[in-house]
Amino acid sequence: MHCPYCNAADTKVVDSRLGSEGEQVRRRRECVSCGERFTTFETAELVMPAIIKSNGNREEFQVGKLLAGLARALQKRPVGAEEIDRAVMRIRRRLMATAQREVPSRLLGDLVMDELKKLDQVAYVRFASVYRKFNDVGAFLETIEVLEQQLPPEGYQRQMQLLDDEAL
Ligand SMILES: [Zn+2]
Repeated sequence: MHCPYCNAADTKVVDSRLGSEGEQVRRRRECVSCGERFTTFETAELVMPAIIKSNGNREEFQVGKLLAGLARALQKRPVGAEEIDRAVMRIRRRLMATAQREVPSRLLGDLVMDELKKLDQVAYVRFASVYRKFNDVGAFLETIEVLEQQLPPEGYQRQMQLLDDEAL
């Protein structure tokens, strides 16, 4: 790249360092003509899409909100903070991978459901019941039935426990 001091076309990289998160490369460059040094930062051009809510409102993606939602769904469940962090990271990656400027909130909801399903079946059903705004027991039970078919016997027992707990 051109030297920002003398505009010479040729500069050389004297040092390259990976940022702490591995998402950014910091390069120290030296101008071949004037000898000045400067720093460049290289990041992949990935932009977090905005979230379009069902009422049509556009909202910036808020990682804090996502974390809070997951934490709420996983309340008193045996899932550690680190696992939640990793789930958030995967959700962010998948959002960025859409390469869209905006995505419907439904997509974010689906990504959350995917992660919860892997993390904890009880939390998954808890979230699904809110997320899908079940207004009748029938629809709720349908979701549980689908889950049962995908669950190993141990998970099935946890589901039944949940039904008792939440006293449908
Ligand atoms: Zn220069």
